[in-house]
Amino acid sequence: MKKDVLNAVRAKCLDCCMGQANEVKLCTITDCSLYPFRFGKDPNGNGRTMSDEQKAKMAEGNRKYWEKKKASASEDSLRGE
Ligand code: SF4
Repeated sequence: MKKDVLNAVRAKCLDCCMGQANEVKLCTITDCSLYPFRFGKDPNGNGRTMSDEQKAKMAEGNRKYWEKKKASASEDSLRGE
């Protein structure tokens, strides 16, 4: 059901932009009520619900990613890159 609605919004946005997907991407009418959904996706989630355990695992993965990225950036700055 939700996907049907999102597909309908996507179709409406493509119709609004004469079938040009790139124009939908570049839409500047941010006060249009369809704007957040113009890609046919729910910006608030992918319809998947995660358990608390899954959320914690994801948060831990994100934390590790950013720590690694910061460490890499500081090594680069020490080398003068
Ligand atoms: S979000 Fe943009 S492309 Fe979609 S209907 Fe509204 S104005 Fe048209």
